[in-house]
Amino acid sequence: MNMHILKRVMVALALTVAAVSVGSRAEAGQPRIGVLIYRYDDTYISTVRNALSNALEGRANVTMQDGKGDQAAQNDQLDVMIARQVDGLLVNMVDAQAASGVLLKIKNAGIPVVFFNREPDLNVLKTYDKSIFVGTNAADAGKMQGDIIRNLWNNYPEYDLNKDGKFQYVMFQGEPDNPEAIARTEWSVKQAIENGIQMEQIGQTFVCNWDTALAQGAMESALAANEGKIELVIANNDSMAMGAVAALSNVGYNLEGGSKFVPVVGVDATEQAVDAINRGIMSATVKQDGEAMGQALATIILNMVDGKAPLDGTQYEYDESGIAVRIPYSPYEGK
Ligand code: CA
Repeated sequence: MNMHILKRVMVALALTVAAVSVGSRAEAGQPRIGVLIYRYDDTYISTVRNALSNALEGRANVTMQDGKGDQAAQNDQLDVMIARQVDGLLVNMVDAQAASGVLLKIKNAGIPVVFFNREPDLNVLKTYDKSIFVGTNAADAGKMQGDIIRNLWNNYPEYDLNKDGKFQYVMFQGEPDNPEAIARTEWSVKQAIENGIQMEQIGQTFVCNWDTALAQGAMESALAANEGKIELVIANNDSMAMGAVAALSNVGYNLEGGSKFVPVVGVDATEQAVDAINRGIMSATVKQDGEAMGQALATIILNMVDGKAPLDGTQYEYDESGIAVRIPYSPYEGK
């Protein structure tokens, strides 16, 4: 048996086991919803999964699968769900570029589908009238950071260390070509400027692959060259923000109860970052509302399975694309 066939058999077996365990609790007449997740170990997606499962509890027979970051595996999982004739699908693509093939299979089977979180080309989704997208707007996270930066500047005049009326900052970017990362980097500063703050970058943008250790190393170098000149740290995510906080702590800044502090702003509201903010060693973060996302997905897919308009009975509206719903972010600036 070659590896490919073996993998398919294993996927089929795994699905059978899942179907039996879920099916034994399901009530007759409930719609069967298939959920494909790009990877279970993503913190934000875990929040979405939990909220979704809770919202569908007792209302649908749910089968959920972990793509483990492998698009080929996710394609196999989709094939099995289509073969089982699920009534609705929620798809969190591993590779958003692969959405056209995935959509075609779903369209041919006539199953309503909501793609979520990882955004396919919306023009592809428009080729099937039973498909929509639910996600966030990448620029919004950056804009919210820009609003937080204004609050920091206005509320804490002491952050302007050299008293020149400008906020000297360093920027930590997730990946060089990731649209989400680029939008956060760009809009955080743009929004701060629109809010009337004069922004001045110190050094190059540090691209640190969303990673704490890489960010800590980059921040240590930045501090070695510019200690006392860096007035603000902006990071595309909390993991990198935490790396910057660690580097600052090593040279006596951002210690609990300490006197020297450089404001650090991240995105994600991870447990560690929220804890750091509450302890006063980090300033703020931006929360992707996974809870709201999970609840929206549940309501929307049940509407679609019932043949209703997707947004029936929700407070959501389509964006200018007419096919996408954007779940708003919220700021977290401490208790
Ligand atoms: Ca300054």
